[in-house]
Amino acid sequence: MRFMASRIVSIELGERSYDIYVGGALLPRIAELLPMDVPGGSFFIVSDENVKTYAGQVQTLLKQSGARVCESLILKPGEQTKSFAEFEKTCRWMLSHGVDRKSTLVAVGGGVVGDLGGYAAASVMRGINFVQVPTTLLAQVDSSVGGKTGINVPEGKNLVGAFYQPKTVVADIDTLKTLPRRELLAGYAEIAKYGLLGDYAFFQWLEEHGRDVCALETEALSHAIEKSVEAKAAIVAADEREQGRRALLNLGHTFGHALEAAAGYDGRLLHGEAVAIGMVMAFDLSVRTGLCPAADLARVEEHLISVGLPTRASFIEPGLNTTPEELLEIMRRDKKAEKGSITLVLADGIGRAFTSRDASEEMILDVLSDSLGGEANARLLQKWKAAFAAKR
Ligand code: ADP
Ligand code: ZN
Repeated sequence: MRFMASRIVSIELGERSYDIYVGGALLPRIAELLPMDVPGGSFFIVSDENVKTYAGQVQTLLKQSGARVCESLILKPGEQTKSFAEFEKTCRWMLSHGVDRKSTLVAVGGGVVGDLGGYAAASVMRGINFVQVPTTLLAQVDSSVGGKTGINVPEGKNLVGAFYQPKTVVADIDTLKTLPRRELLAGYAEIAKYGLLGDYAFFQWLEEHGRDVCALETEALSHAIEKSVEAKAAIVAADEREQGRRALLNLGHTFGHALEAAAGYDGRLLHGEAVAIGMVMAFDLSVRTGLCPAADLARVEEHLISVGLPTRASFIEPGLNTTPEELLEIMRRDKKAEKGSITLVLADGIGRAFTSRDASEEMILDVLSDSLGGEANARLLQKWKAAFAAKR
């Protein structure tokens, strides 16, 4: 009876296994969902300005249940918060408030709070209990599954961090009601990714119900998140430290990272938007290598546009001041490029992705150049703008 309204996905990682709760009205039940196998342990809540009401709710409920809870640490929203300075602040905040080995850090927020909080939890006292309450769609379907934590450094994003699994993840879809639409859609790109990389039937389902998901329709949204979490969990369980199958999760990402770098992380382009454009590029490249039917590329683009996601680099406003050659150079430097040749995730059809080092640089340049080139895409651009504005 207790968990009737929610779905539970178990992440099987031996003694580090944990459950992810997905559904509505979960925050009000936070106290019963958290692992209370640490009697006497105190709670530390980290959050950001935009979601501090959720943090406040968690704090109140935990207190009411009799737990010792420290005042929450509310950080500034945004990627700049994933820094050494904020990491130090978070660790020292816990240390100055009596953290001990039985303490639990609860990260209430999006990927920024989750990544930074997770790394602080992994580090303080050489590791305390960690709980994630993801409040962005992206964090619910992606960053809260798999145990990657960390911060950005001047040398690059996420270059300092640790694999550290949470004890529990509570993904309450009600928190998404306050999430800006662009952020919501950016999270949807990662949902579509799971269909595109390995689950044709799920992609078909998304073609039918994707707009309901993006309209926050409870059943559709819960199903999409559950399927995504399961897909990532299965890959992570088979391959916790990213060789082999886990690499498929990078579908669209090498292209996407290049776009993000070219945009200079200035808010013009969200990660999920870059991934949407990057996935279209990956399918375009797959078609050019003769592996994938052109109809599948058209379907991928059609679907992403229909929910309101951008699919071409030329859609980015203000426009990227870059060239195909420059983007290729960034791709070569991507940390996943091994010994000169670029490893990309290609597909021989929707739901059938694989890694390949065979794509020629000429072909990659053609793909980049087509995505950047604006004129031929006027029809798609109009369609995308209409879909973004339509909300449903
Ligand atoms: P990610 O997209 O990786 O999860 P962030 O943690 O940067 O990234 O979250 C994206 C933005 O959305 C941030 O400005 C954050 O404060 C804000 N945010 C997160 N969750 C919510 C929410 N439920 N409602 C409103 N804003 C939110
Ligand atoms: Zn991603």
